[in-house]
Amino acid sequence: MAAEPEETRLREPPKIRRLDESVVNKIAAGEVVQRPASAVKELVENSLDAGSTSISVVIKDGGLKLIQVSDNGHGIRYEDLPILCERHTTSKLSTYEDLQTINSMGFRGEALASMSYVGHVSVTTITEGQLHGYRVSYRDGVMEQEPKPCAAVKGTQILVENLFYNMIARKKTLQNSNDDYSKIVDLISRFAIHHTLHGANRADVHTVASRSKLDAIRSVYGISTARSLMEITAHGDDPARSVFKMDGLISNANYTAKKTIMVLFINDRLVECTSLKRAIEVVYSATLPKASKPFIYMSIKLPSEHIDVNIHPTKREVSLLNQECIIETIQNAVESKLLSSNTIRTFNSQAINSSTSFSGNKDVQLKSFSGTKSSKTPVHKIVRTDSRDPVGRLHAYFQDKDASQNEKRPDLCAVRSAIRLRRNPKETADLSSIQELLSDIDSDVHSGLLEIVRDCTYVGMADDIFTLLQHETRLYLLNVVNVRCLVLLVFSAFLLEFKELMYQQVIRRFSHFNVIQLSDPAPLPDLLRMALKEVDVDPGDDENRETMEKIAEMNTELLKQKSEMLQEYFCIHIDQQGNLLKLPVVLDQYTPDMDRVPEFLLCLGNDVEWDEEKNCFQTIAAALGNFYAMHPPLLPNPSGDGFHFYKKDKQDDSSNQDEKHGQSNAEDNVDHQLLAEADTAWAQREWAIQHVLFPSMRLFLKPPKSMATDGTFVQVASLEKLYKIFERC
Ligand code: ADP
Ligand code: MG
Repeated sequence: MAAEPEETRLREPPKIRRLDESVVNKIAAGEVVQRPASAVKELVENSLDAGSTSISVVIKDGGLKLIQVSDNGHGIRYEDLPILCERHTTSKLSTYEDLQTINSMGFRGEALASMSYVGHVSVTTITEGQLHGYRVSYRDGVMEQEPKPCAAVKGTQILVENLFYNMIARKKTLQNSNDDYSKIVDLISRFAIHHTLHGANRADVHTVASRSKLDAIRSVYGISTARSLMEITAHGDDPARSVFKMDGLISNANYTAKKTIMVLFINDRLVECTSLKRAIEVVYSATLPKASKPFIYMSIKLPSEHIDVNIHPTKREVSLLNQECIIETIQNAVESKLLSSNTIRTFNSQAINSSTSFSGNKDVQLKSFSGTKSSKTPVHKIVRTDSRDPVGRLHAYFQDKDASQNEKRPDLCAVRSAIRLRRNPKETADLSSIQELLSDIDSDVHSGLLEIVRDCTYVGMADDIFTLLQHETRLYLLNVVNVRCLVLLVFSAFLLEFKELMYQQVIRRFSHFNVIQLSDPAPLPDLLRMALKEVDVDPGDDENRETMEKIAEMNTELLKQKSEMLQEYFCIHIDQQGNLLKLPVVLDQYTPDMDRVPEFLLCLGNDVEWDEEKNCFQTIAAALGNFYAMHPPLLPNPSGDGFHFYKKDKQDDSSNQDEKHGQSNAEDNVDHQLLAEADTAWAQREWAIQHVLFPSMRLFLKPPKSMATDGTFVQVASLEKLYKIFERC
């Protein structure tokens, strides 16, 4: 009886209705844009299709809040804007036959449409020769209002906000899963590797090509990965079997990882090919004794009519004509490469293995430093992160390759440590106050920030064209020409981190410093006077001068008194005549800005609390930290707004007419010598930041909890500001 209504329902079939078009579109949109990473991929591909050489990507909240992709491509015509976000509108395909020879990345004309159904899309674009650009926003495939004229830089900027605002369930899942950010990083890293040569037809210079790819891989996946790669090529030219050309880089026996990384481009399109990946994994596990998963970068070129890109709505999986033959040929090539390289392995494996470094690979990185045992790399051999062991830290870590390989040979390391200990037999561990300071640092670590710091990548130069920089939820893939400015900006916000880093380094190296020898003894009274003059607004006053003299004298006396302790524990050498002779090496390969010595000495004299041991050590370390932190050079940065500083006599122009010989070229108006000096200073700073400070920060900094609230990290978050400045560069 209870079954009756069921039966009646069965007898009457439900009516079939045509779905509302907007529902259809929304369903389709959800397929094309499955997650923020797929939106980013579509947008970057559009930018590449538009011939861009510089693309920048900004992400907020894993892409759910905001995705912004800006390029310098050909832009979008004004008259095309109304249909830009309609489904099946594309400039890349007009007949079905075109599909067979399509070489661009997109062609289905669905990406932008989809995004407008599941998010809010706005577009700013300008085409060649136009005086101004247009800005327009879209909702559900339609333009919301007439395009508004606006200022624009070359190319197109597409902003997708509040992705999946109308798909609550998906948004929640994505928010919880929290891994889109890393997916996006991964995606862009892959683009960065492959497109090192994008737009530059230099395929003939083979080694150059793979060299710059290696550089890109080094910066994205880390030195150790790049070091363990071998070039590989394969091809087929039998039309009956397969026609293709493959070149790539694959990991050798020294590489260890738990997950396969495969970066595959087919006809310059980033794709996945599961069967090829499996096939290569099989070869690796059969050939190499260690059960490591490979790293594979491959670029396969084949006639475009041999590839069916249309099997997947996101165009991610492709199918190839004669796929089996191609896979087999590649398998064979990989196998013989691995076999032939196996002999070399025994020779250099140790050096290479033990130099595994700060790879961009997040898994390894985070694990290494949280001390997880499961990590395959013998972390203790690579990096001594134990802060209680001030000997044998990563000294050679940032030195040039050869040196660092030697240094990291475990046997050599042991010998060095022993020598160091013998030279400096005092047991630091006995000083309980320094132990306390060390454990204070450890216990005050903000774990969230620690993760960010460990995870933050100065991806640096990917090649001539692209540069990748990533911090927390922010990513930039950008033009090298621009990067300098942006990097500096990002890092000026890091000043506080550097201070803290230096402080922590001083505590860790306590009484085990290497020495920076001053070329000439520097008399303390002079230095102190210099510092006091800086502080004082009116040094001309007699009374003032007298006080200044007195302070200088007193501080000199004080520091002379404390010299033994300063020398023994902090390697600050002051002789009995009151001269500064030596300073400590706080971070290897890094010398502080000597212009700041006076300020430092004044700080030592005034701010150190000498009475109580722990306080005393802490305040000295803080003074050193402040001194060694990388302050911006005194000369303004010439590559930004600071350039005006180097223009000569701007106001005097009119009065100097006669000297001008009727020609007032902007070139002549610049103080070239000063400019060159500034350029050098900033370039050196940038180098040091990239190669010394930034990597050390990732490795050593334990961010204290206060950093979460004191603005250190928030500053970096004012992305829009950075972005605006980036636009101006
Ligand atoms: P598809 O890429 O499949 O053609 P999309 O929806 O991704 O479809 O893009 C629609 C069209 O919008 C493209 O064919 C292209 O003409 C234009 N377009 C999209 N993004 C850009 C861009 N960054 N620069 C120039 N044109 C673009
Ligand atoms: Mg597209």
